Amino acid sequence: MSETNKFQSLGAVSYPNENAFTRITGFKHLTMQERSGASIIFEYPESSGDPYYPIPRTDNDELYQKYRRLADNEPRVSFVGRLAEYRYYNMDKVIARGLHVAKLLLS
Ligand SMILES: Cc1cc2nc3c(=O)[nH]c(=O)nc-3n(C[C@H](O)[C@H](O)[C@H](O)COP(=O)(O)OP(=O)(O)OC[C@H]3O[C@@H](n4cnc5c(N)ncnc54)[C@H](O)[C@@H]3O)c2cc1C
Repeated sequence: MSETNKFQSLGAVSYPNENAFTRITGFKHLTMQERSGASIIFEYPESSGDPYYPIPRTDNDELYQKYRRLADNEPRVSFVGRLAEYRYYNMDKVIARGLHVAKLLLS
Protein backbone atom coordinates (compact mmCIF):
# COMPACT_ATOMS: atom_id res chain seq x y z
CA MET A 1 0.00 0.00 0.00
CA SER A 2 1.32 3.43 -0.85
CA GLU A 3 1.95 6.02 1.88
CA THR A 4 -0.24 8.46 -0.09
CA ASN A 5 -3.22 6.43 1.09
CA LYS A 6 -2.51 7.64 4.59
CA PHE A 7 -3.47 11.14 5.67
CA GLN A 8 -0.70 11.33 8.29
CA SER A 9 2.33 9.27 9.25
CA LEU A 10 1.05 8.26 12.74
CA GLY A 11 -2.18 6.79 14.07
CA ALA A 12 -3.05 9.76 16.29
CA VAL A 13 -1.75 13.31 16.09
CA SER A 14 -2.77 15.89 18.72
CA TYR A 15 -3.25 19.57 17.91
CA PRO A 16 -3.01 21.56 21.17
CA ASN A 17 -3.01 24.90 19.35
CA GLU A 18 -5.36 27.38 17.68
CA ASN A 19 -7.13 24.78 15.50
CA ALA A 20 -10.78 24.07 16.26
CA PHE A 21 -9.98 20.32 16.33
CA THR A 22 -7.74 18.74 18.98
CA ARG A 23 -6.81 15.42 17.37
CA ILE A 24 -6.77 13.58 14.04
CA THR A 25 -6.85 9.79 14.08
CA GLY A 26 -5.93 7.73 11.02
CA PHE A 27 -7.42 4.31 11.60
CA LYS A 28 -5.46 2.40 8.97
CA HIS A 29 -2.36 2.88 11.15
CA LEU A 30 -4.16 1.21 14.03
CA THR A 31 -5.88 -1.63 12.20
CA MET A 32 -3.19 -2.29 9.54
CA GLN A 33 -6.08 -2.44 7.09
CA GLU A 34 -5.00 -2.56 3.45
CA ARG A 35 -7.35 -0.67 1.15
CA SER A 36 -7.24 2.47 -0.94
CA GLY A 37 -8.03 5.87 0.54
CA ALA A 38 -7.54 7.20 4.05
CA SER A 39 -9.94 6.67 6.94
CA ILE A 40 -9.66 9.54 9.43
CA ILE A 41 -11.58 11.42 12.08
CA PHE A 42 -11.16 14.94 13.46
CA GLU A 43 -12.11 15.52 17.11
CA TYR A 44 -13.74 18.84 18.00
CA PRO A 45 -14.30 19.66 21.69
CA GLU A 46 -17.73 21.08 22.55
CA SER A 47 -19.44 22.26 25.71
CA SER A 48 -22.86 21.06 24.55
CA GLY A 49 -24.18 17.63 23.63
CA ASP A 50 -23.48 14.33 25.38
CA PRO A 51 -20.70 14.65 28.01
CA TYR A 52 -18.03 12.00 27.34
CA TYR A 53 -15.65 12.85 30.18
CA PRO A 54 -16.48 12.74 33.91
CA ILE A 55 -16.13 16.17 35.51
CA PRO A 56 -14.67 15.70 39.03
CA ARG A 57 -16.73 18.26 40.96
CA THR A 58 -18.30 17.89 44.41
CA ASP A 59 -21.87 17.98 43.09
CA ASN A 60 -21.06 15.34 40.47
CA ASP A 61 -19.40 13.13 43.09
CA GLU A 62 -22.44 13.43 45.37
CA LEU A 63 -24.70 12.41 42.50
CA TYR A 64 -22.43 9.49 41.63
CA GLN A 65 -22.46 8.31 45.29
CA LYS A 66 -26.27 8.14 45.12
CA TYR A 67 -26.06 5.91 42.04
CA ARG A 68 -23.32 3.84 43.66
CA ARG A 69 -25.50 3.14 46.70
CA LEU A 70 -28.27 1.95 44.39
CA ALA A 71 -25.77 -0.14 42.40
CA ASP A 72 -24.39 -1.73 45.58
CA ASN A 73 -27.88 -3.05 46.31
CA GLU A 74 -28.09 -4.92 43.00
CA PRO A 75 -27.28 -8.61 43.62
CA ARG A 76 -25.27 -10.41 40.93
CA VAL A 77 -24.57 -7.20 38.98
CA SER A 78 -21.16 -5.48 38.88
CA PHE A 79 -20.80 -2.01 37.47
CA VAL A 80 -17.35 -1.61 35.93
CA GLY A 81 -15.92 1.05 33.63
CA ARG A 82 -15.96 4.68 32.89
CA LEU A 83 -19.66 5.38 32.98
CA ALA A 84 -20.35 2.73 35.61
CA GLU A 85 -17.79 4.12 38.07
CA TYR A 86 -17.98 7.72 36.94
CA ARG A 87 -14.25 8.20 36.56
CA TYR A 88 -11.84 8.72 33.72
CA TYR A 89 -10.27 5.53 32.39
CA ASN A 90 -8.16 5.17 29.28
CA MET A 91 -8.61 1.92 27.39
CA ASP A 92 -5.67 0.12 29.04
CA LYS A 93 -6.87 1.11 32.52
CA VAL A 94 -10.46 0.12 31.89
CA ILE A 95 -9.41 -3.30 30.58
CA ALA A 96 -7.14 -3.79 33.62
CA ARG A 97 -10.04 -2.78 35.86
CA GLY A 98 -12.38 -5.24 34.13
CA LEU A 99 -9.87 -8.08 34.54
CA HIS A 100 -9.29 -7.16 38.19
CA VAL A 101 -13.01 -7.20 39.02
CA ALA A 102 -13.48 -10.46 37.08
CA LYS A 103 -10.70 -12.10 39.16
CA LEU A 104 -12.34 -10.88 42.38
CA LEU A 105 -15.70 -12.26 41.29
CA LEU A 106 -14.22 -15.62 40.33
CA SER A 107 -12.20 -16.02 43.55
C1 LIG B 1 -13.37 11.23 22.20
C2 LIG B 1 -12.65 10.14 23.00
C3 LIG B 1 -11.33 9.86 22.74
C4 LIG B 1 -10.66 8.86 23.46
N1 LIG B 1 -9.36 8.59 23.19
C5 LIG B 1 -8.70 7.62 23.85
C6 LIG B 1 -7.35 7.31 23.55
O1 LIG B 1 -6.73 7.90 22.66
N2 LIG B 1 -6.72 6.34 24.26
C7 LIG B 1 -7.38 5.65 25.25
O2 LIG B 1 -6.78 4.76 25.85
N3 LIG B 1 -8.66 5.92 25.54
C8 LIG B 1 -9.33 6.89 24.87
N4 LIG B 1 -10.63 7.17 25.17
C9 LIG B 1 -11.21 6.49 26.30
C10 LIG B 1 -11.80 5.13 25.96
O3 LIG B 1 -12.74 5.28 24.91
C11 LIG B 1 -12.48 4.65 27.24
O4 LIG B 1 -11.51 4.50 28.24
C12 LIG B 1 -13.18 3.31 27.10
O5 LIG B 1 -14.05 3.29 26.01
C13 LIG B 1 -13.98 3.08 28.36
O6 LIG B 1 -14.58 1.82 28.28
P1 LIG B 1 -15.85 1.51 29.13
O7 LIG B 1 -16.17 0.09 28.88
O8 LIG B 1 -15.66 1.99 30.52
O9 LIG B 1 -16.99 2.47 28.53
P2 LIG B 1 -17.62 2.56 27.08
O10 LIG B 1 -16.65 2.12 26.05
O11 LIG B 1 -18.20 3.94 27.00
O12 LIG B 1 -18.79 1.48 27.15
C14 LIG B 1 -19.99 1.70 27.88
C15 LIG B 1 -21.09 1.00 27.12
O13 LIG B 1 -22.26 0.99 27.90
C16 LIG B 1 -23.34 1.27 27.06
N5 LIG B 1 -24.42 1.80 27.90
C17 LIG B 1 -24.55 3.02 28.43
N6 LIG B 1 -25.68 3.11 29.15
C18 LIG B 1 -26.27 1.92 29.08
C19 LIG B 1 -27.46 1.38 29.63
N7 LIG B 1 -28.27 2.07 30.40
N8 LIG B 1 -27.76 0.10 29.34
C20 LIG B 1 -26.96 -0.65 28.57
N9 LIG B 1 -25.80 -0.19 28.03
C21 LIG B 1 -25.47 1.06 28.28
C22 LIG B 1 -22.83 2.26 26.06
O14 LIG B 1 -23.62 2.27 24.89
C23 LIG B 1 -21.43 1.70 25.80
O15 LIG B 1 -21.42 0.74 24.76
C24 LIG B 1 -11.32 8.15 24.46
C25 LIG B 1 -12.66 8.44 24.72
C26 LIG B 1 -13.32 9.42 24.00
C27 LIG B 1 -14.78 9.71 24.30
